[in-house]
Amino acid sequence: NQSYAGRHLVVVGAGVSGIGAARFLAARGAQVTLTDQRPAEKLPPEVIQLPSEGIAIEAGAHRPETLRAADEIVLSPGVPPGLAALQPAREAGVPIIGEIELAFRHLRGRIVAITGSNGKSTTTTLIGRLLAEAGLLTQVGGNIGVAAVSLVETSRDDGWTVLECSSFQLETVVTFRPHIGVLLNITPDHLDRHGTFENYVAAKLNMFRRFDGETLAVLNADDPTTPRAQAQLAAQGAPVTLFSAQRELEEGLFPRGDELVCRTRQAERVLLHRADLPLPGRHNLENILASLAAALAAGVDPETARTTIRDFRGLEHRLEFVAEVAGVRYFNDSKATNVAAAQVSIEAFPSGLHVILGGLDKNSDFAPLVDALASRAVSVALIGTAAEKIAATFAGRLPQPITRHASLEDAVHSLARRARPGDVVLLAPACASFDMFDNFEHRGRVFKATVKGLISNVQREA
Ligand code: ADP
Repeated sequence: NQSYAGRHLVVVGAGVSGIGAARFLAARGAQVTLTDQRPAEKLPPEVIQLPSEGIAIEAGAHRPETLRAADEIVLSPGVPPGLAALQPAREAGVPIIGEIELAFRHLRGRIVAITGSNGKSTTTTLIGRLLAEAGLLTQVGGNIGVAAVSLVETSRDDGWTVLECSSFQLETVVTFRPHIGVLLNITPDHLDRHGTFENYVAAKLNMFRRFDGETLAVLNADDPTTPRAQAQLAAQGAPVTLFSAQRELEEGLFPRGDELVCRTRQAERVLLHRADLPLPGRHNLENILASLAAALAAGVDPETARTTIRDFRGLEHRLEFVAEVAGVRYFNDSKATNVAAAQVSIEAFPSGLHVILGGLDKNSDFAPLVDALASRAVSVALIGTAAEKIAATFAGRLPQPITRHASLEDAVHSLARRARPGDVVLLAPACASFDMFDNFEHRGRVFKATVKGLISNVQREA
């Protein structure tokens, strides 16, 4: 285990991962400074304890002098590597790495890493369950709310760590080489942060930069960027397993009629039946196929895979069934914070759909939603600061009634009056939540509480 005694490390960004990294390094003897551009009073409460653990805090700005004086810099996932304050340090040759890279250098055992624009948390959770149910020593973390460095202590040579990786986190890896890497899809998101789609794709493909004959990459055959990933991996001599939710493949995992099939050059095997699939939508089929591919490669037996998937209920705020009120079913997909996510969730319902859209715009193009809505939606309710832009995009192209609402509660009440028995009301905002809520979880909870309120209204009227 690498010792940091006598070395000065600066951790940039006091979020979950940054605080985790600072503690990790201090515990290993480093002299640590944690910097954040927010003023001290806006930092998470646990920061107060850090000085007693030997960690210096610099709040209010990232000071270029502090960064330049470091032996090494560790960036939190939320901090752009292009930050101006980092420039002098970079020019002086100070190594700059991300928290995932730091964790990787110390983690024991094997790693399954999952990335993609959408479906990461669902797939990461499911892979974690599959491995654990098969009796493998398993821990889950990364972008899913548990700093990767905090898993180092409990990692074992014969165990597995399942890591959700955001594109932000993959921008700053150097030697990172998971045993199995899953790339679910790449659709435009976070263009506010990465600038161009090209940069965003490059960040995701960083996952595979060290892949070789001993790793396995799991790729979505239907994603337009997959040929590029395949070319990179072929050049590195690294094997690939493909999956498709839409068509038969020569080799890989795919649905055929009522069955999910895994086909290799030698053999073909039925893994599951559609009746075993617990979650709606083509996107969840993708997540399940990707999880199966990774789990089978890690040694999970097919029977354990089948029963674990059958019992998987998905995650809160991801196309979560809330309640049926007066014959209308309500679904919470508050986690659909971008256009592609909202689109797949809309497409999970064939007709009779009332959709709540809007929130904080991430410089998105909402046009792809027009076709999805045209054939299946009955009405659309808009909230948040993006409402005007969405309304302008839909104007003249969508005949359905489009209403604007000052609050999420008001949108739910209005759709509840409009919906007929058999219809579905879906929250799939296609936007971030920060204009009206603390985060997407908060938005989802407000939606669910409002729906629960409808139940008591109905009971009172009955
Ligand atoms: P992430 O961690 O990448 O944000 P989640 O599993 O939390 O992914 O799912 C977020 C949202 O993305 C879901 O609520 C759903 O709307 C959408 N989604 C999930 N899986 C996929 C997929 N495979 N392809 C496209 N969209 C998806």
